[in-house]
Amino acid sequence: MNHLSYIHQGNTAWSNFLDQLDRVAPYLNDLQDRLDTLRRPKRALIVDIPVEMNDGTIKHFEGFRVQHSLTRGPGKGGVRFHPNVDLNEVMALSAWMTIKCAALNLPFGGAKGGVRVDPSKLSKRELERLARRYTSEINFIIGPQKDIPAPDVGTNPQIMAWMMDTYSMNAGSTITGVVTGKPVHLGGSLGRVKATGRGVYITGMDVAKKIQLEINQARICVQGFGNVGSEAAALFAQSGAKVICIQDHSATLYQPEGIDLELLVQYQKQHGAIKGFSPAHEIANALFWDIEAEIFIPAALEGVITEQVAQSIKAKLILEGANGPTLSKADDILAQRQITIVPDVICNAGGVTVSYFEWVQDLASYFWTEDEINQRMDVIMRNAINDVWEKARQQNCSLRTAAYILACERILIARKERGTYPG
Ligand code: GLU
Repeated sequence: MNHLSYIHQGNTAWSNFLDQLDRVAPYLNDLQDRLDTLRRPKRALIVDIPVEMNDGTIKHFEGFRVQHSLTRGPGKGGVRFHPNVDLNEVMALSAWMTIKCAALNLPFGGAKGGVRVDPSKLSKRELERLARRYTSEINFIIGPQKDIPAPDVGTNPQIMAWMMDTYSMNAGSTITGVVTGKPVHLGGSLGRVKATGRGVYITGMDVAKKIQLEINQARICVQGFGNVGSEAAALFAQSGAKVICIQDHSATLYQPEGIDLELLVQYQKQHGAIKGFSPAHEIANALFWDIEAEIFIPAALEGVITEQVAQSIKAKLILEGANGPTLSKADDILAQRQITIVPDVICNAGGVTVSYFEWVQDLASYFWTEDEINQRMDVIMRNAINDVWEKARQQNCSLRTAAYILACERILIARKERGTYPG
């Protein structure tokens, strides 16, 4: 395999993606020769974002937008604001979007953006200036038919509103379909905020049934209590499960009889984080993966399930709410230990599925009810997980490899049919 000159190998998110492609290659028969097309992004843009801070100084931030593949349609994927964002991470996240959209059979390629910034350290006005300047810098490669950003870690509907407004101001007309995850009065879709967590729940319930794991009284540990983790936790608790451990950037809370999630959400709104919430008690962060529980939901950042975690974790089912939480070698260990993982590219795809609905509604200027959104999403998610389950059974492989087989076949057949320009 040839490595890209601008990416150093090693234990990185991008190298983890390449390892995942290597695992799928043997299943692709003739299409295997075409897999190199996915081993590099189609286009990567690095931008400088100067921002005038409230004290009058100018700070420069690094920004990125990577379009990994545009083979099946416009690029699609979120924008991350986080201090660890770099080109390597954005490339991996864009590639996972390519696989995710194809696994769900949505008519999109994969893309991702990011800014290396800690948004909690900026005032609202500074954040707005940052989001607007970032949008201006990537303006010429995004658009409803080109590449459609959305929220990810550290961004939200307000930031999407600023992005949509900036793009529209440059164009001279209001173009709602350029981003998804917008506020509902600006062409956003009902159900979008909760969609990712809901998708984790729907695919998780489906696979729990298949592996005969009883959800009533099942113990669940959740890493990350943002949009995804909090909604998935709430839905599982409504189905009788006990959410016994929750970790966010501030603390790890443990309560064996089950944490009161409604109270925790209120507490988090007031305090900005979960630290200090009682009656749950705080334990050391390192103990999170040692808790005895049936289900773990990593719903924060990538690379957290290492080989060491995979060897010791006591779980029956792992639901990947985050993108890329499991390293490839850890994946192999979990497979040997017969621990089932619902992979990110299916498990957290509820978000991009409702983003797809939002884009369709914006283009048609005709909006659906929340029930319609949820019903349509449930059908797409259930069909996807069933197809992946069936593929894994036929090929005797993990659910991740099965999802990659289905996705790569769709992308590489499309690539073959389109041909190589200029021929
Ligand atoms: N950032 C989300 C993801 O990783 C959503 C992307 C989208 O809606 O385009 O899937």
